[in-house]
Amino acid sequence: MADSNRYSDGPAKCAEILRVALPMMTRQSAGVHPVSYAVWFEHASGGNPRLSEAIAVLTKDGAVLDDAQTWRLYSEHIADPDSQSTRKVAEGMRKVMAEMSASAQAAGAQTDRFGDSLARLSDNIQSEEPHDGVIDEVIAQTQGMRDAVSQLRERLSASQLEIEKLRSEVDRARTEALVDALTGLPNRRAFDRVLAEPVAATTSDCLLVTDIDHFKRINDTYGHLFGDTVLRVVSQALRACVKSPQMAARVGGEEFAIFVPGTGLKAAQELAERIRHTIASSRIRRKDSQESIGQVTVSLGVAVRLPDESTEAWFERADRALYVSKANGRNRVTVAENAPSSHGSSHKP
Ligand code: GH3
Ligand code: MG
Ligand code: MG
Repeated sequence: MADSNRYSDGPAKCAEILRVALPMMTRQSAGVHPVSYAVWFEHASGGNPRLSEAIAVLTKDGAVLDDAQTWRLYSEHIADPDSQSTRKVAEGMRKVMAEMSASAQAAGAQTDRFGDSLARLSDNIQSEEPHDGVIDEVIAQTQGMRDAVSQLRERLSASQLEIEKLRSEVDRARTEALVDALTGLPNRRAFDRVLAEPVAATTSDCLLVTDIDHFKRINDTYGHLFGDTVLRVVSQALRACVKSPQMAARVGGEEFAIFVPGTGLKAAQELAERIRHTIASSRIRRKDSQESIGQVTVSLGVAVRLPDESTEAWFERADRALYVSKANGRNRVTVAENAPSSHGSSHKP
């Protein structure tokens, strides 16, 4: 998905975004921590318009964001990485900041000493009885100044490497937060995001929901691990049938949803039939005995988006159609009621 590589900009670009983000971030009443950093970095990068809109609303008339609002923005508009990664990133950030501030302080102290020496040199030059020692002191302090600056430079480049590492950590965590570990398909969160994109909303968009038939029986007969294999086989069939910009996701235990943008009901219905048929005709064997298990089938519901329909209502209609498929004997496709071109017709295989 588009946002899995949002943090892949080079260091120069990141530094530029950071320069814009930092002043915005420090104007808020929320603390400066990885969460506020992520929120303002994303906002400044211009790559997350919904986050930016939410910020615009919250900061209207000069209002500032507190911690709770910042966290909410983060969890609503930026996938929350698993807590372990968050902790790692937080700890890493803290170290980088501490390092940088220590180096800057050290360089600052050296600059002060250098300034003092120069002032003394200047006084000395103007005084009646110059001391030779002052020149030596300035030379020594100049050397010290040079060392401090080169140390600062080294530490900054080390910090930059560290930030690179953190960036890829955040990137990895974000990807994981959007991908289902068992099947490798996008998960529910990823699916909801795609559906929530304003460009996704046209009345020729369709939604397919599908659920494996009698899956509990498969688990009970062959064991949970084999059930997992069946989930992967079904996911492979979905991958084979569903082509971008269509998108299949695992949205529940043995439930999947497919977004079919822009092609209208007929094409979506055909896709649903193709999925149903592909799964029903695949033979799944057990690894140990090579025994072929009985037919695995799925039931499907198809709904075209109605004008001004919310995503929830759309999902609900597709789910009701799926339920009709189950009630009518499973291994079939049902088109949702209220669809403009087809009124709740049930399609037998
Ligand atoms: P129906 O045809 O009405 O859908 O019947 P069903 O047995 O498929 O439906 P039910 O909801 O009764 O059972 C779903 C089962 O899916 C129960 C649950 O243990 C199993 N399940 C959910 N997630 C997983 C998973 O990740 N792996 C495995 N192996 N089983 C899972
Ligand atoms: Mg189910
Ligand atoms: Mg089921």
